[in-house]
Amino acid sequence: MRTRRRLVTFACGHSKYLSFSSGSPQEAVDTTLGILHHSFCAACHRLQREAFAQRVRDAFGLSPIVGTQPEQVGLAEVIRIHLLEALIPPPGSASSPEGLTELLDVLNRCLQAEFWIEHRMILTSWNRQQISNVLLAVEREVEQSAHHRLALEASE
Ligand SMILES: [Zn+2]
Repeated sequence: MRTRRRLVTFACGHSKYLSFSSGSPQEAVDTTLGILHHSFCAACHRLQREAFAQRVRDAFGLSPIVGTQPEQVGLAEVIRIHLLEALIPPPGSASSPEGLTELLDVLNRCLQAEFWIEHRMILTSWNRQQISNVLLAVEREVEQSAHHRLALEASE
């Protein structure tokens, strides 16, 4: 199929060539380009999400996530903050401040980027059961690393 290439400039200032099939109605092409013109490119969108997650992390006093690759660490922060947002009581709700402290405590227990990447599916899900499974996994992970530490100490 024949395609037409059009240059789109994103809101962040980056630009990219996009291909449209020659059969696409001009109106659809213009609408698509208009939406993209007011959006960030994929790379800037990712950085923006990471920066947002880091601001939320600092506002709640969470410890930074650690890992060997900066891109993984950034994504892990986004995943963890998504979990926080999914679980945090809405402002003005009757739930106790202790509940929030406990939640932050759980989110602070697992600071390995790999752990959060492994559970990235919660980024696309607001399913309560999946979210609970991740919290249970945090507990398991903490227990296992505690056992691991004990085993190491015993072997020394
Ligand atoms: Zn950009």
